[in-house]
Amino acid sequence: MRIDFRTVGPFQENCYLVVDPTSNRAVLIDPGDDGERLVRMVRDSGATLDAIWLTHAHIDHIGGIAEVRRHFDVPVYLHPLDLPYYTQLSARAADMYGVPFEQPDGPHRELADGDILQCGGLRFTVMHVPGHAPGLVSFNGAGLSLSGDLLFAGSIGRTDLPLSDPFAMDASLDRFAALPEDTVVYPGHGPMTTIGEEKRSNPFLTGRARALKR
Ligand SMILES: [Zn+2]
Ligand SMILES: [Zn+2]
Repeated sequence: MRIDFRTVGPFQENCYLVVDPTSNRAVLIDPGDDGERLVRMVRDSGATLDAIWLTHAHIDHIGGIAEVRRHFDVPVYLHPLDLPYYTQLSARAADMYGVPFEQPDGPHRELADGDILQCGGLRFTVMHVPGHAPGLVSFNGAGLSLSGDLLFAGSIGRTDLPLSDPFAMDASLDRFAALPEDTVVYPGHGPMTTIGEEKRSNPFLTGRARALKR
């Protein structure tokens, strides 16, 4: 497997391209902004793009979709609980922040916990891990996890946003932390890490901090 990425937009979001070298098929995770750069990343890979998979639909994860889909006619996958962000709230946030945003069409396919997705011969299991956003999912497989804004190196996604749920976040982190320790985590922001490293050093996984203040 090959992974490429670009950090895009004012929110410095990581958009990942996963390529199965055997079949030369690819999926794009969270095309958040700078669509032209993401189109070039896909073209430069030489792979055939099959789909756009979204971890969630905050503005910084969906702002590049419209441009990417002008070049690649591929379906957008999203958990239905994040539809309010996709269809309305992200556009509203763009107005609020005063940043440009092009409303994408779709989404075209619904994700659910336990779904198996394929990228060529690679298999990923969808894990629903709400909290930061109600429809947040991680894509787990091939020894790695693409997990959006669930877990960062040394931190976690915000839980003070509209539709966030700190209680659900704590449960999701517990579930996510049960993945094998050598699982490489590719987060929506910042550097990659591993489950083991975060269990040793991340205050939200060592028990020193919780998303829900009790
Ligand atoms: Zn987010
Ligand atoms: Zn984000």
